[in-house]
Amino acid sequence: MPKDPAPDFTGESKTADVNAAAAMQPRAPESVPAESRNGGRVRGNDKAPKGLYAPNRNIMTPNMRSPEYVQLSTAAAITLGIMRGNMHRTSCTRCLNLLLTYPEGCRANCAYCGLARHREAERDYADRNFIRVDWPAVPYDEVLEIVASGRDGGRFHRMCISMITHPNSERDTPDILGQWTARIPDIPVSILSNPTTMSTGDVQELHDLGADIFTVALDAAAPELFERTRGRGVQSPHSWDKYWQILDAAADIFGPEKFGAHLIVGMGESEHDVLSQVQRLRDMGGHSHMFAFFPEKGSLMDHLPPVPRPQWRRVQLARYLIDYRDVRLDQMEFDGDGRLNGYGIAENELQAIVESGLPFRTSGCPGKEAADVSACDRPYGDSPVSDIASYPFALNKSDIRKVKRQLLRDS
Ligand code: SF4
Repeated sequence: MPKDPAPDFTGESKTADVNAAAAMQPRAPESVPAESRNGGRVRGNDKAPKGLYAPNRNIMTPNMRSPEYVQLSTAAAITLGIMRGNMHRTSCTRCLNLLLTYPEGCRANCAYCGLARHREAERDYADRNFIRVDWPAVPYDEVLEIVASGRDGGRFHRMCISMITHPNSERDTPDILGQWTARIPDIPVSILSNPTTMSTGDVQELHDLGADIFTVALDAAAPELFERTRGRGVQSPHSWDKYWQILDAAADIFGPEKFGAHLIVGMGESEHDVLSQVQRLRDMGGHSHMFAFFPEKGSLMDHLPPVPRPQWRRVQLARYLIDYRDVRLDQMEFDGDGRLNGYGIAENELQAIVESGLPFRTSGCPGKEAADVSACDRPYGDSPVSDIASYPFALNKSDIRKVKRQLLRDS
């Protein structure tokens, strides 16, 4: 019988195909000149925005604020038709990912994130890259108008509001959500929340205003890793306990299948660590959405290696089994370093699931296709096109052959 030996993971991995904890240390944040803090440069210039703002990395970034302005992913801007561009092997994204925007930016300092506060020294908030792409800013009215009138071709299956850590985000998120549900009730909305400044009452308010799914970007898959990359280790305000408190509230308020958490793979956690969180979420009735660690340019971890593909593929596959095939963590096998050695199901069943390609697609909140297919496909948000980590489309035979080689590789 496969078993879970509760590994004693020390961070000194003996295998070469994982990002071990000891090697995955963020660099220290540099100090920020006083005039650049809290969006000082942008507020000082006080330049009025005019329509679409495409990040151009100069010092004349206009003074844009939510809820009048939002940022959106490059893929969403292309799908909306407000930016021109082509994406490798896909023509659109199915999720309209919005980000609240303020000159002061996100007040947290997460080590792996391109939006982090320490970047005030070199780049205004609206010019910062996030999950490998630029996030143009646009009047929210314009976004509503395009989608409500169908000028996007009906291609969005879902909208998502990312709150960021800012004192106005609790006030502005319900405003943005309410405007959407009043005009576009047929496209469900997910909330990517900011637990640090939220209360249970805030979660309830978003539910009552019509949010469909509530998510928490837990990101770091173990308490000590969380503290090192999102807490005191990088002068950032987040705490593991507060994140789980809001997740518990979301489980109560939104209910089964309607909440979830983001987890990043390859920041120094063990495979057992991350899959323990996946199982915990599943036991609560929620789902996990996985991201492959990629060294985001300008972040405090930009000098570190991306997650090795064998580690990533093992976790992707195991997470899919837990989330959608009722396999449990305690059926799986791990070595003493917390590395996955067995998936806990018959080999022929496992191969059929691998051949479907589903575990290797981008994971996130579902759209119209199927419960286990994410609308949030985030094209190339965690890898370059030459070495795709999360496939933003159905895998073809050649993709599946590549994934199988990666699953078999030991180094
Ligand atoms: S709270 Fe979110 S947006 Fe802000 S720095 Fe952390 S990961 Fe980035």
